[in-house]
Amino acid sequence: MKVALVGIGKIALDQHVPAIAASPDWELAATVSRKGSVPGVPAFTDFAAFLAERPDVQVVSLCLPPVPRFDYAEAALLAGRHVMLEKPPGATLAEVHELERLARDRGLTLYATWHSRMAHAVAPAKAWLADKAVHEAHITWREDVRKWHPGQEWVFEPGGMGVFDPGINALSILTEILPQPIHLTKARLEFPANRQTPIAAQLAFTGNVTADFDWRQEGPQTWDIIVQTDRGELALRMGGNVLEIDGKPMAGENSIMGEYPALYARMAELVRKGESEVDLAPMVHVADALTLGERVTTAAFEF
Ligand code: NAP
Repeated sequence: MKVALVGIGKIALDQHVPAIAASPDWELAATVSRKGSVPGVPAFTDFAAFLAERPDVQVVSLCLPPVPRFDYAEAALLAGRHVMLEKPPGATLAEVHELERLARDRGLTLYATWHSRMAHAVAPAKAWLADKAVHEAHITWREDVRKWHPGQEWVFEPGGMGVFDPGINALSILTEILPQPIHLTKARLEFPANRQTPIAAQLAFTGNVTADFDWRQEGPQTWDIIVQTDRGELALRMGGNVLEIDGKPMAGENSIMGEYPALYARMAELVRKGESEVDLAPMVHVADALTLGERVTTAAFEF
């Protein structure tokens, strides 16, 4: 199937282009980006022109930041294209509900991807937890914003979600693996004095679940979820790619490179079956944190 990539920036070049190139299902037939392009691939700078001139491309994969993404997704669905959304699927919950409605009414596929759910050890972790009683869980998601979002001012602008941009990846794993649903009860959000979104957050949920998100970690990066159960401790490390039970490695692979190939395989399956997949549970927790959270002002941040 032919796919067009829209928004040729960091994640498109780091992950989407190689995943499509290695896939038996997909051909990268066009790009749409104001400045970016991919060598050897027909490049458009205007989305309306792409939609009008390339009816042969029935699938678009939107790699833009969340705020501009809705207009592109809406236009694509109105033009009869299947749509794959980067995470987080939108700037607000309501706009994603609207996209779901548009896709459903037209019989089109809408896939709100969560790349971290495709990490190597997430499915085995979910299977291990399925028959356990969870007593408590803690997320530590500490990374360096300068490394993963170099100069990306949008992450600190309204709708950019700040530290929840990576934190929502942890929440996408947690909501996938826990046998019972949870909801947020308390949050403390640290906003740099010169910014609109938080750079750190501490969250508490029902079920003794807590989370510590921080975007100021230099040196080694930490993406861990530790779950205490009635029959031992589960640790998911490396962003869900490595599983340990009671300290012993059990499954997975210390690499993030399997996630996007798995997303494109899933999109191919959804399009073939005529189905959609949109789970907003991770984004509900972020919206709740931004609604309920205590706001603390911290040191100004510059890239
Ligand atoms: P990015 O490089 O800043 O943005 C991607 C591209 O989107 C830009 O190069 C730009 O291309 C286009 N764009 C930006 N603002 C736009 C606007 N207002 N209107 C139209 N086009 C615009 O961001 P990214 O890091 O790739 O992240 C994009 C999405 O992927 C985010 O939702 C992020 O959460 C997700 N993601 C990122 C990472 C990561 O490590 N960075 C990892 C996983 C997922 P043109 O200027 O050429 O139009």
